[in-house]
Amino acid sequence: MNFNLFGHSDQWVAVDCGITLEQVPGALRPSVQMPDLSFISARREQLAGLIVTHAHEDHLGALPYLWEQLRCPVYATPFAAAVLRHKTRSRRGVLPSSLIEIEPGEEIKVGPFDIEWIPITHSTPETCALSITTPQSRILHTADWKIDADPVVGAAWSSTRFGELGKAGVDAVICDSTNALRAGYSPSEGAVAAGLSRAIQVCTGRVVVGCFSSNVARMQTLSSIAAKTGRYLGVLGRSAEGMARCAQQVGLLSPQFQPIHSEHLGYLPPQEVLAVATGSQGEWGAALHRLLMQTHPDFALEAGDTVILSSKTIPGNEEPVARLVDGLRDRGIHVIAADDSALPLHASGHPCQGELTDLYQLLKPTLAIPVHGEAEHMAANANVAREAGVEVTLTGRNGDLFYLSPTPGVRRRFAEVGRLAWCEETERLIKV
Ligand SMILES: [Zn+2]
Ligand SMILES: [Zn+2]
Repeated sequence: MNFNLFGHSDQWVAVDCGITLEQVPGALRPSVQMPDLSFISARREQLAGLIVTHAHEDHLGALPYLWEQLRCPVYATPFAAAVLRHKTRSRRGVLPSSLIEIEPGEEIKVGPFDIEWIPITHSTPETCALSITTPQSRILHTADWKIDADPVVGAAWSSTRFGELGKAGVDAVICDSTNALRAGYSPSEGAVAAGLSRAIQVCTGRVVVGCFSSNVARMQTLSSIAAKTGRYLGVLGRSAEGMARCAQQVGLLSPQFQPIHSEHLGYLPPQEVLAVATGSQGEWGAALHRLLMQTHPDFALEAGDTVILSSKTIPGNEEPVARLVDGLRDRGIHVIAADDSALPLHASGHPCQGELTDLYQLLKPTLAIPVHGEAEHMAANANVAREAGVEVTLTGRNGDLFYLSPTPGVRRRFAEVGRLAWCEETERLIKV
């Protein structure tokens, strides 16, 4: 549930506003939680705007619930804006009255901040790192990122702009720590496309591929494989359908991406079916769960069909994923999980140590501030930064203020922080 504030001369700009899903013991569905924004909502006249770096839930999912507390202009790329509109409608939230679309690569002024949107590769399209400049300093907020030479959808990784900024001088880098414990480089979406193609080519019955619905590249890949293998593509699950529509609206998917309605999918011969489905984490009520329980209204699997989990199991979801896999196998359905396949069937969207080193060496910042991860991930990211030649690293906790002048430092517990949860019954936010 990301939320960052950058301050200069009594003005703030916010970056991202996300949710997290917290499994409460005994509940069927996880609880939707988000940051308590009391600190900034109490001084919202000082908030010049909010920038959405990309379309993932942990970066924009809280806006439908919280924008009313901020009432500032919101800036997002066309795809992230489409996703925000879609999520706001489905959550019956409040859409920002000023939602400004920015193309990757553009430069804008928000209050006293000059902000450049630098395209960066990640597991959802149009992700942008931000160069945030004031007359005194320049910081680079990476957003979520990886180095992907073949991202399938969108432009390939380019180091050019980061190298130029490194030469011009970067005071601080605020950087994604998710995969900082892993050596090497994360595989490319292009490698996953080749792996999925090999796995699907040898299948004889229906094939259903579970993946994260925001992974538009994976949908594009499956559409291409469907065309190559004489199958029709179906999209099962509301969030996947919504994401595919948003991506189509802004022209991210090829014109050949033409999924057929799931009602028609059920009438096709098994060998002509390829469907992408939600629920790869074993989520209750998602498409894969319905296929397991045989409660999907339009479509059913039989012995001899194949389910591919093109995702990693998020820690904490091991049990529902195991139930899904075992239940499908009990019915004679082949299950291939990316977690234990020799083929590359999933790629993370976050940088491993090799990628972190490369970026630090390009940007040569004075200071690195790792974010986006548990304490151990941020500590590992700081280690990589120091080994890459960054002199100062600072790590902290939610609510800490990192300052750049006169010399870099941290003021602990500067802002009060906490969590809010969305209560389905009362349709209200409650403190947790
Ligand atoms: Zn994220
Ligand atoms: Zn992300």
